[in-house]
Amino acid sequence: MKYLITGGAGFIGTNFIYYMLEKHPENEYVCLDKLTYAGNLANLKKAMEYKNFRFVKGDIGDREFVFSLFEQEKFDIVVNFAAESHVDRSIENPGPFLTTNVLGTQVLLDACRKYGIVRFHQISTDEVYGDLPLDRPELKFKESDPLKPSSPYSASKASADLLVLAYHRTYGLPVTISRCSNNYGPYQFPEKLIPLMIINAMNEKELPVYGAGQNVRDWIYVTDHCEAIELILEKGRVGEVYNIGGNCEKRNIDVVKMIVQKLGKPEELIRYVKDRPGHDLRYAMDISKMREEFGWEPKVGFEEGIEKTIEWYRSNKEWWMEIINGEYMEYYDRMYSKR
Ligand code: NAD
Repeated sequence: MKYLITGGAGFIGTNFIYYMLEKHPENEYVCLDKLTYAGNLANLKKAMEYKNFRFVKGDIGDREFVFSLFEQEKFDIVVNFAAESHVDRSIENPGPFLTTNVLGTQVLLDACRKYGIVRFHQISTDEVYGDLPLDRPELKFKESDPLKPSSPYSASKASADLLVLAYHRTYGLPVTISRCSNNYGPYQFPEKLIPLMIINAMNEKELPVYGAGQNVRDWIYVTDHCEAIELILEKGRVGEVYNIGGNCEKRNIDVVKMIVQKLGKPEELIRYVKDRPGHDLRYAMDISKMREEFGWEPKVGFEEGIEKTIEWYRSNKEWWMEIINGEYMEYYDRMYSKR
């Protein structure tokens, strides 16, 4: 089988490429990535050593380019990770989120229609469901819940999900969608909560926490997400949506405190900053469909996952040192220093 993996130079895409190269060496893999600020070719250095892996630089929204790639390559399976992925950036400037996440997905779907495909898999998020109250722990998102996104990011992801399902219903395109909760692990861009806190704590810099840090996220270690995608590609029913979650709800402040404690740093580094506008209170996933159809469960516990992640950032200092300068620091100052 020949795979197209879009957005494979980003956090989850990179992890998925390594997971698949190890587990399914019989396939051929092509990664298509625009290399935005979040994409990093250095992530794929080891993948380049595999004969069955190739990298192509390009934009999923560039119709002519995408169509000619599909014509040449004759892909069997497309897994679409490519997206603008950071909520705070979508609040500053929603435009690129609509262009890539909605229109870019449409270009890929059109190419799949024209050139034929065994499966198109869309990587989506729990954020499309909106949020849950903090005081109703029994509530969790189900696949059948209405979409009620809060941010321009989640609205763009919800739009893409609807388009994917419409292409199945209208054109019979063989699609699946997975909606996953918050990922963490190696190669995550330092603007996201866990790597931000690890890097700042290692450097004994302030740890900016939104509001009172009470918002709850359901954390999943990235390889558990990769395994769930693998199962959906192998056994998932076309036209279906699958929720993926870590069964691991944590308040942001507790995540930060755990990182501080594991690194042996003082809690006084924590600074509460002005909350994100429209900040979702709580996400929690009902993963019974994944459990019942595939027997899937997340395997990596939070403490183990955090320790592995800290170890990765400790051992890969040059990776994040390259990132945390220039454009990134301007963004960081806009976000936190003046809040
Ligand atoms: P990321 O920002 O680390 O990576 C995104 C990648 O997409 C980058 O390599 C970037 O260069 C590439 N890209 C952006 N625009 C592109 C375009 N127009 N054409 C081609 N490539 C483009 O994101 P991530 O955290 O790895 O997320 C990957 C996917 O998973 C996204 O679709 C995101 O919505 C979804 N998701 C993420 C999480 C999470 O916790 N990180 C949770 C659920 C779902």
